[in-house]
Amino acid sequence: MKWTKTLIQTLRENPQDAEIDSHKLLMRAGLCRKTAAGLFSFMPLGMRSLKKIENIVREEMDAAGANEILMPALQPSELWRKTGRWDAMGANMFRLKDRAEHEMAMGPTAEEEVTDLMTNIISSYRQLPLNVYQIQTKFRDETRPRFGLMRSKEFIMKDGYSFDVDAEAADKTYWTMYHAYERIFDRCGLKATPVSADGGDMGDSMTHEFHALADAGEDAIAFCDGCGYAANTEKAERTAKIVYEKVDSPAEEVATPGAKSIAEVASFMNLPADAFVKSLVYAADGEYVMVCVPGDRDVNEVKLKRYLGVKTLEMADYAAVREVTGAGVGSVGPVKPLKADIRIVADSSLEGASGRIVGANKDDYHLKNVDFARDTNISGYADLVIVRDGDVCAKCGKTISLKRGIEVGQVFKLGTKYTKAFNTVYKDENAVETLCIMGCYGVGVSRTLQAVIEQSHDKDGIIWPASVAPYQVVIENLDPSVEDVTKVADDLEAALEALGIDVIVDDREERPGVKFKDADLIGFPVRVVVGAKGLANGGVEIKRRADDKSKMKVVAVAEAVENIKALLAE
Ligand code: ATP
Ligand code: MG
Repeated sequence: MKWTKTLIQTLRENPQDAEIDSHKLLMRAGLCRKTAAGLFSFMPLGMRSLKKIENIVREEMDAAGANEILMPALQPSELWRKTGRWDAMGANMFRLKDRAEHEMAMGPTAEEEVTDLMTNIISSYRQLPLNVYQIQTKFRDETRPRFGLMRSKEFIMKDGYSFDVDAEAADKTYWTMYHAYERIFDRCGLKATPVSADGGDMGDSMTHEFHALADAGEDAIAFCDGCGYAANTEKAERTAKIVYEKVDSPAEEVATPGAKSIAEVASFMNLPADAFVKSLVYAADGEYVMVCVPGDRDVNEVKLKRYLGVKTLEMADYAAVREVTGAGVGSVGPVKPLKADIRIVADSSLEGASGRIVGANKDDYHLKNVDFARDTNISGYADLVIVRDGDVCAKCGKTISLKRGIEVGQVFKLGTKYTKAFNTVYKDENAVETLCIMGCYGVGVSRTLQAVIEQSHDKDGIIWPASVAPYQVVIENLDPSVEDVTKVADDLEAALEALGIDVIVDDREERPGVKFKDADLIGFPVRVVVGAKGLANGGVEIKRRADDKSKMKVVAVAEAVENIKALLAE
């Protein structure tokens, strides 16, 4: 391909709304153009990389026994109502009505749709296992679309769904998909780590997220240095046994006028935040519950929800807090007097706590010298906080450290959540009707593209892995008007293309500096410089994008192809 025949437009300036390197480079290298917040066009270069990622996904899915299908992106509301997710999806789902006033959704995912499809197809155990996938545009009205393709309103996802006869067969499919995912990201040149995550609303069983580790990642992941346990911070468990010094003095009121947050009270009393206990009131399935955690920690609502065994959990509003405790937010605590008799739970690190400072359930007052065994009525202690660096691993007792990640994929055991709702049954050998066991498997295809950039770039631009680069080789024709030079460049292009290598020839009448800058910005893995001066001095210059100038080699034209092949294989 000749540069002048394709559409490449690089930008000199970073777009104003781009906060992270990969977003800046995506736009500056001309891979994508923005239409509006969270909406992007793929330009020819971006499209080529996207297709390469899609093909890797496709090859690995096919090899793992999945079949490609394509379902409508426009989905009738009836399907979503069957599982209750028409309401549960809330504002995240784009909704519309057709001219006959039928409610529809622009699919954010497709569990309902695929289950409905398969319910009408599956009848016998002989048809199972069944595993289907599609590569399709998905729509989500994200609260904060940002970071370019990382969190957009419309994005490309590979979503796959499996149907098995029983839990054992479903488990086997799950691990087949898990290993296929490892290969997908590996082949894309992405370092992605599987981390165990919380099943949340999707079912109660096992799930792993695949995270590309990067400082710019939106998610925090807890890694154990000892046993290798990796989990996202919603799920990661820690143990905490603190030995408190016993304070025998009775609990005593302290006036804390105007101080509401832990930070304010701590600064008012000139004590560290962990001398205090943070008490929050939640409505859990409609019942009020108080949760206590150390003043310097945050409640993990996922763990709390799981511990309480409830379906809904939300912070109680100001009026409710006053009704239950008799005080305003900021002055509440796990101590008498409480206006209502509510359940109180606390983080495990508070078991045996003594000499603590808590809200007094009286506006502008706290209580000091609080001894949890003596002064409170905690119904249970559990790990209820968000893990942080330095916490103790619940599995092995070693130290947890936090890293940041980009979720590029997820595999999920769904059990019978959807097949129950749709009555997706097969007849077993004895003609007994049994529910299928489902799994679902997603890859953020467009997000993966940008994650590759985030993991592989330098100050000059992108450094594409050869497998997903828009072109693997750029041939810089420095003298396009000189016939001999152009012939060498074009012959080299043809020879490489004959080997199945993607090549672009920069045949623009531009200064070498401009051409090299663009090549570095776009990040073609191998650069070949062909110019009249070079040819007179013995050949062409070859260098990998990842290497610095000192590694540049001059090779004879006849040896160029072999040398380029070797560099691409590195
Ligand atoms: P997140 O937690 O980042 O919002 P998710 O867990 O809701 O993602 P899934 O439902 O698991 O997303 O979707 C499968 C994959 O699709 C994700 O692993 C991610 O790579 C990608 N994805 C999800 N939302 C977006 C988005 N708004 N823009 C781009 N890719 C997305
Ligand atoms: Mg996910």
